[in-house]
Amino acid sequence: MAKHTSLQRDILIMHLEEQLEDCAKERYHKRLKQLSVRQVYRVLVQVVNDLLASSEPCAGEKKIYYISMEFLIGKLLSNNLINLRIYDDVARILKKNGFDLADIEEEEAEPALGNGGLGRLAACFLDSITTLHLPGEGIGLAWHYGLFRQVFSSNLQRAKKDVWMSDDTFLIRTDTTFDVHFGKKKVTARLYNLPVTGYDSGVNQLRLFDLETVDESLVTSGIRFDKKAVRNNLTLFLYPDDSDEDGNLLRIYQEYFLSSCAAQLILSQIREKQYDLHRLPDYAQIQINDTHPTLVIPELIRILVEDKAFSMDDAIDTVTKVCSYTNHTILSEALETWPLSYLRRVVPQLIPYIRELDARIAKKCPERSVQIIDSKKKVHMAHIDIHYSHSVNGVAALHTEILKTTELHDFYKLYPSRFNNKTNGITFRRWLMLCNRPLSDYLTTMIGSGFKKKASQLTRLLRYSDDEEVLDALDEIKRYNKKRLAEYILEKEGVVIDPDAIFDIQAKRLHEYKRQQMNALYIIHKYLEIRRGKKPARPVVYIFGAKAAPAYVIAQDIIHLLLVLQQLINNDKKVSKYMKIIMVENYNVTYAEKLIPACDVSEQISLASKEASGTGNMKFMLNGAVTIGTEDGANVEIHHLVGDDNIYIFGERAEKVIEHYAKADYVSADYYKKSKVIREAVDFIVSDKCMKIGHRRNLTRLHKELLQKDWFMTLLDLEDYIRTKDRMFEDYENRDKWKRMMLVNIAKAGFFSSDRTIAEYNRDIWRL
Ligand SMILES: *Cc1c(COP(=O)(O)O)cnc(C)c1O
Repeated sequence: MAKHTSLQRDILIMHLEEQLEDCAKERYHKRLKQLSVRQVYRVLVQVVNDLLASSEPCAGEKKIYYISMEFLIGKLLSNNLINLRIYDDVARILKKNGFDLADIEEEEAEPALGNGGLGRLAACFLDSITTLHLPGEGIGLAWHYGLFRQVFSSNLQRAKKDVWMSDDTFLIRTDTTFDVHFGKKKVTARLYNLPVTGYDSGVNQLRLFDLETVDESLVTSGIRFDKKAVRNNLTLFLYPDDSDEDGNLLRIYQEYFLSSCAAQLILSQIREKQYDLHRLPDYAQIQINDTHPTLVIPELIRILVEDKAFSMDDAIDTVTKVCSYTNHTILSEALETWPLSYLRRVVPQLIPYIRELDARIAKKCPERSVQIIDSKKKVHMAHIDIHYSHSVNGVAALHTEILKTTELHDFYKLYPSRFNNKTNGITFRRWLMLCNRPLSDYLTTMIGSGFKKKASQLTRLLRYSDDEEVLDALDEIKRYNKKRLAEYILEKEGVVIDPDAIFDIQAKRLHEYKRQQMNALYIIHKYLEIRRGKKPARPVVYIFGAKAAPAYVIAQDIIHLLLVLQQLINNDKKVSKYMKIIMVENYNVTYAEKLIPACDVSEQISLASKEASGTGNMKFMLNGAVTIGTEDGANVEIHHLVGDDNIYIFGERAEKVIEHYAKADYVSADYYKKSKVIREAVDFIVSDKCMKIGHRRNLTRLHKELLQKDWFMTLLDLEDYIRTKDRMFEDYENRDKWKRMMLVNIAKAGFFSSDRTIAEYNRDIWRL
């Protein structure tokens, strides 16, 4: 086999330069070397798209449809070059013509199709599904402006529209359109395709639907737009502000639009292949990513009953065998419930079906907690998913345990065999080979290239855990990546940082449960110590990246505090020699790819029980960072894999935290009163120094929140966090010990390949 394909590859590479030249000539009547950087980018997109169009699609009778509100796919050019295995050849050809591939990469806008971990997971899954040659499609929406682009001004986050769609993306417009009915109102959806490459071979499609009548001019300033104009606004923004009725209705419109398009697409493919609809579960499996696509369940049932002459029993039974549901969170505010009256206004045609689904449960189960429509006439979307799917999975071992024993216990009693765990994963193509080529290349020379497809082979690195040369090489790569990041941060943020400092990074969505505020309190504590003359052995650079939902007030205040601390500390000549703090603007996949390879200390400090899995933790570990974390989400599994000596665990355990909530006995003021260290750090938020730089309203509100509420128990863990982090920074000075920790973390990261996760989904749920 190898011989034949390597011959084909040789031919492909031989013709690559010719193809690039031909394309340059055709589009611009010029030689490659005469083009502008932008033109080279366009030529590359076209040549890659041509290669993809002639690649073998993943084929098979049965297909997995992964439906998700978000696909946080990141830039595609380099990823596609890597997966087509022509990255080095293209880089060489460009160099010969006077271009640097890195400059060309800068030309691509990152698709604004997602928000955070959940959307990134969907993207990693598409890569792995395709790499494993499973026939699969992602189904989502073509967001024009995604979430938002973050800019800072006056130490506050401001939201701008994130413009990314242009003629130069990988999006391919198709002739396929579907009508979507909202009662008597009808809109048209158009299908766009985005080819997904697998590593080495394979192509699948990400199907993105757009509203044909979308009107970008509805956006007035920032991210403000007319929420009532649903005929023209549905695909403008992901997660529009839902703090009012119009916002709630718009989200339901978006969810039904996605669900209806998905149902129509799947059924059209079944029809095209002339498959027997009664055997639908043998041809189609649907993974419902969180509750946003839930309406696909009643919608499919409705179509089968009204258009395909199914009995209600048959339709429900068929759809249940097709659908599976992934739960991503136990935060109650994230489990969607919609007033039945809102659903009736948006999709009246589904109401009889939702009522029927509810009535069947009411008849069968007496427990109130499992009903679909509750006594306040609110529809619990997750309950539809659990009752009418054949699989319910959590995303890390601890999370699934909590679902079974606490959050979804009543459902677990009803359907014990439906519940299963699928610990999240990340694609090593993007999160190692693309973002950290020096490390990826070095690993290849040491343990061969097998790890790129069989991630478990990374453990071969353990052979070298006492080999000084290898340990030094890993350290040198880290140092190189830190230097590169320092240059990037100077360019983007205008801050000078020292590559020989410790790089301590917390990059993830801003949320109180993730506890960026606890990290900020540590930084204040260190600042005060240094002011008093206690100098650290080595400077530390504290780096944050995080967007906060525009309507989430306390999250905005936390960003404000971080920016105020950045201004205060970085400009304090006495202190800035020893510490700096940087909140990078507009954290996204592109920025993550720069931060992660350069990280020494990975901050994974959520309140135990609250982070379902986390995937950032996995990316950092794979790139040789050492984790400081709570026993939460996949941290538990990281801890188990690397052992006590290669991770820094602190804080209250999940069981205890859950008990605190049950008894409602956590009082943050008690911790504040008891500890001078805590008092000093918390009160600094409203000190003259901060007030002079920042805004009184934001800072006092945050201070009050910590003292009077602190729903995510920051002060409970603060002292243990300070002790553990101090010990960690001391250990960094034991350079041999630290390098060995780096090596062990890289070597043990194989378990977190999304190839493993997807193989498990397929084995236990989809059975393709
Ligand atoms: C991986 C990733 C996330 C998820 O990070 P967590 O630490 O798991 O919350 C969020 N945003 C981006 C851009 C990512 O790449």
